[in-house]
Amino acid sequence: MKKVVKFGGSSLASAEQFQKAGSIIRAEESRRYVVPSAPGKRFSGDTKVTDMLYDCYETAIGGKNFDVKLKKIQERYNEIIEGLGLTLSLDQEFEKIHEFFENGAGTNYAASRGEYLNGIIMANYLGYEFIDAAEVIFFSEDGEFDSEKTNRVLSSRLDKTERAVIPGFYGALPNGTVKTFSRGGSDITGSIVARAAKADLYENWTDVSGCLVTDPHIVENPKPIEIITYRELRELAYMGASVLHDEAIFPVRSEGIPINIRNTNDPSAPGTMIVESTCKKPEFTITGIAGKKGFAAINIEKDRMNSEVGFARKVLSVFEENGISFEHLPSGIDTMSVFVHQSEFEEKEQKVLAGIHRIVDPDYMELESDLALIAVVGRGMRSARGTAGRIFSALAHADINIRMIDQGSSELNIIIGVNNEDFETAIQAIYDIFVVTRL
Ligand code: ASP
Repeated sequence: MKKVVKFGGSSLASAEQFQKAGSIIRAEESRRYVVPSAPGKRFSGDTKVTDMLYDCYETAIGGKNFDVKLKKIQERYNEIIEGLGLTLSLDQEFEKIHEFFENGAGTNYAASRGEYLNGIIMANYLGYEFIDAAEVIFFSEDGEFDSEKTNRVLSSRLDKTERAVIPGFYGALPNGTVKTFSRGGSDITGSIVARAAKADLYENWTDVSGCLVTDPHIVENPKPIEIITYRELRELAYMGASVLHDEAIFPVRSEGIPINIRNTNDPSAPGTMIVESTCKKPEFTITGIAGKKGFAAINIEKDRMNSEVGFARKVLSVFEENGISFEHLPSGIDTMSVFVHQSEFEEKEQKVLAGIHRIVDPDYMELESDLALIAVVGRGMRSARGTAGRIFSALAHADINIRMIDQGSSELNIIIGVNNEDFETAIQAIYDIFVVTRL
């Protein structure tokens, strides 16, 4: 058994958190490769080291004195080193960082030091080898992640290394310059390392006990999801549920390696397993509910629309020309609606309307704004009867007017449009019917 373990920022924010991570790693021989984030928030209102680095570097390139800001960052690390009782000193590393900042080494380099330094501490604390991610994770000239070269180099390096710490979030361009992934990118590094190590499991340790059925800001204490497929997770993530970086599933998915989301502060909780597919029946008919506010709908009516070949294509070409992507496209015989992000649409609204008039000459057009979309996702819905019926009756009981319904062809999700102000009540009602009363 071989596991790759990634620890998020809040799991490594202080010496105390490092100790928890240390006991988790030491508890199982199989936890051989460790991917740390930079120290995150220790309490609400605290600043992540990554944000301190961005800020410090900005001061540096502004030609101002950044000594105090850099010192503050070093203090964060020194607190961890002292709290762990290590004899390590990062003085030389900080001198080098100071010099690189003065020479304008770049925002990416600056941000990456958070993970780099935390990796050095972690390796020292565990007695594991330190592998600089810049030596094993590669981006191509155009800034795209180079998965094949990375997998080749990293695999052969890990073959020769029994136990190692590989910092998350960054790699290097062909000329050796450091480049980071987008924010939260240590999740991607963990997945890349799991693929290269041919691991049996990628454990992603964070500060929640896995994915929850819905947003805890809306529903009190929602149930955790025991097991979820990559596809279900993607549907939920797209609609705003966030536990893992969007890109993090791809490297492990191609090798069929499951991801286990775990809680550093509650290591006995089993967390959530993310898998390619499973025979295991979900606990409830639905796996999760997620949603977003802030959509607008453009409703178009024209007599005999349905016999006009190319009508939808023409309408959509107007959105394309204006650089607006559409979310949903419910249609009737002589009507069609285009759902878009309100913020994207608002500034180009009149141009789009004029464009539609010109190209399809509709009889009537109407705009609706302040709509919310809710995705009810679940692999179990395909074989269950009456799921949609239950959703609709729950919403009717909650006195909510449904503005749109769209069931994806995969039957993995049902999307419902409601008014922004009904958003929270609608999610609560759907949660209650499936999870609380288990209908
Ligand atoms: N430290 C980086 C961030 O704050 C990357 C990560 O934590 O995954 O975005």
